[in-house]
Amino acid sequence: MTTRVCGPCTICCQFFAVPETGKPTGEWCVHCSASGCGVHETRPQSCRNFACFWLMDETFPEDLRPDRCGIVVSFNENHDSVVVHIDPERPDALAESPGSDLLEALLGTFDPVFVVCGQDRMMIRPPRAVG
Ligand code: SF4
Ligand code: SF4
Repeated sequence: MTTRVCGPCTICCQFFAVPETGKPTGEWCVHCSASGCGVHETRPQSCRNFACFWLMDETFPEDLRPDRCGIVVSFNENHDSVVVHIDPERPDALAESPGSDLLEALLGTFDPVFVVCGQDRMMIRPPRAVG
């Protein structure tokens, strides 16, 4: 059980729709603030249902907190792979450290890894072993 909290991070709040409030995908929520979710105690159930890897796993380094690195990692719907959401304002986040190290580690465990950045979708597979 993690003791982590989202704190000032609200980066995933722009990625997903919140049906309860009508907030569409890809737009910031009106409750986002510099100190975090402004209605954290009473936030909608769909917000409560989402947890990124950094939040769930205390072994994820602090520099991979999503608002710091620009990358949100979560399980896909089937829980058999992962989706990496990149902050559209930081499209190179996965190409540079610590994002590039994170991608390499994910590809060591998951095949494929799905990547979303704004309207762009990509599927990345681990490099094949040669020989
Ligand atoms: S990206 Fe993770 S840490 Fe940030 S607000 Fe979403 S669930 Fe919380
Ligand atoms: S209500 Fe809070 S947790 Fe939900 S999208 Fe808005 S800021 Fe994020």
